Order: sequence, then C-alpha cells, then structure tokens
Amino acid sequence: MGGTATKVRYIGFAKYLEDVTVEVRVKRDKAAMAGIVTVPTCPYDLKPMKVIPKSGYGTRKNERTYKCPTLHRIIVTSSENGELRGWM
Ligand SMILES: [Zn+2]
Repeated sequence: MGGTATKVRYIGFAKYLEDVTVEVRVKRDKAAMAGIVTVPTCPYDLKPMKVIPKSGYGTRKNERTYKCPTLHRIIVTSSENGELRGWM
C-alpha cells in the first residue's frame, strides 16, 4: 500500500454510525492534478473509494463525495487548510 493513512470519524446524524471511522490514504499519483490522490476506504465493505466530480448540487467547497465499486457513497469534509475533519 504505502502513503499516509488517517482515521476520519463520523460527523453525520446516524446514531449507528457514530463509532465508525473511515481510513483515508493519501497517495502520490502523477496523473492527479495536485500530484496526490485521496483514497478513503469504504466503511461498509472496506473497498477503496473514488471521488465523484462535483455536480454543483448540495456540495460545499470543503466537501467531497466518494463512491466505492458497489456504489456506497460517503462525503468527506475538510477544513480550509485541507485537514480532514470527518465523514458522513
Ligand atoms: Zn462500499
């Protein structure tokens, strides 16, 4: 694997997900715009997730939507300086 892994806690409203953390890996990727790619691990089936390009609807600046191969979706939020804050 490699890269830096961060545990991100749940910040949504579903009680049963309160203790579920998502592991997010930041990997180098020459093809990515920023030279790195952020890869959350799906909290439901532990598969690597891919970012969904912004639709412009319901997404704020510091929120990114990710989906896994079986189409679970999560939103990962970050602060202004890019620090990961939580998922929902
Ligand atoms: Zn999944």
